[in-house]
Amino acid sequence: MSTPPSSAARPTLRLVGLAMIVVVALGLGSVLLLWPGTRMTMADAQVKANPSKIDGDRAYGYLKAICKIGPRPAGTAANTKQRQMVAEHFKKYGATVKEQPFSGVDPVANTPVAMVNLIGSWFPERTERVVIGAHYDTRPFPDEDPIFANRKLPFIGANDGASGVALLMEIAHHLQDSPTPWGVDLVLFDGEELVYGGGQNQTGDYFLGSKAFAENYKKVQKGTSNEPKFTYYAGMVLDMVGDKDLDILKEPNSINFAPWLVKEVWAVAKSINATKFRDKRGREIYDDHLPLNNADIPTIDIIDFDYPYWHTAKDLPEHCSGASLAQVGKVVTAWLNKPKPKPEPK
Ligand SMILES: [Zn+2]
Repeated sequence: MSTPPSSAARPTLRLVGLAMIVVVALGLGSVLLLWPGTRMTMADAQVKANPSKIDGDRAYGYLKAICKIGPRPAGTAANTKQRQMVAEHFKKYGATVKEQPFSGVDPVANTPVAMVNLIGSWFPERTERVVIGAHYDTRPFPDEDPIFANRKLPFIGANDGASGVALLMEIAHHLQDSPTPWGVDLVLFDGEELVYGGGQNQTGDYFLGSKAFAENYKKVQKGTSNEPKFTYYAGMVLDMVGDKDLDILKEPNSINFAPWLVKEVWAVAKSINATKFRDKRGREIYDDHLPLNNADIPTIDIIDFDYPYWHTAKDLPEHCSGASLAQVGKVVTAWLNKPKPKPEPK
């Protein structure tokens, strides 16, 4: 995940390089102009929010297990090992699992990298679906570590990588028997950050997995895919949701693209007293939600970017907590478990 420039950045949150920003802006900036968040606001169903019984300790156990695999960049054996572990887990809790392979490029070696998104589908027969995604690859190196020598150390990505995946694994326990009216796809995106170097010296493209996922979805919509047609009603990206000191702010691109969803999710958070969801606008973030919005899936980024260990060798389990994961999991499942909104009157 990366951020556009901001004068309000804290010194520990180094900004992405200008060159990369231009590339991302060219690729995605146009999206902002084309889809200015015109989705209709759904009538707010005044129902009691019903979160699933999310187990924060268990979710934190998954986070530690993922970190124990070691660094998990796209194209590595560790990345595959993690994906297989999650695939088995999803199957165990009732999902139909499929892999979505695609090809990326290592920007330093300039060699092709086999990448794979993993899709766990609950209620696969339902054609109105929701996608909850997280990237599972980790950045090759901790390029923003304040100690220069540390930038060649292994990057474990406890919060930036493992937290989202761990929470999806926990949510998987609660879908089979849930009252959700939606088909639910839990998706692991590969190739989110096969990017080298920090600050202004970054090499590589972000969001390769979510871009491939979005392209495939566009084909489904056009009827040029082998898959039967279905529609994503909404999407959520979970990234950096494990910070011990959690604060989830409303991310500006999410507000632009899916204002009604931000409103619904924060209303659910309030109703279940999930106080870490602050009623406050956060920093603009470039993340996997942008390619999904580009494919007309209204998607929000649930993220706490205020994490001093971002892209450092200290992004370790000790800076994450099960309580933080649980709070986000409760909000996500309480939203999923809401009845469908009534159709707008004609
Ligand atoms: Zn990152």
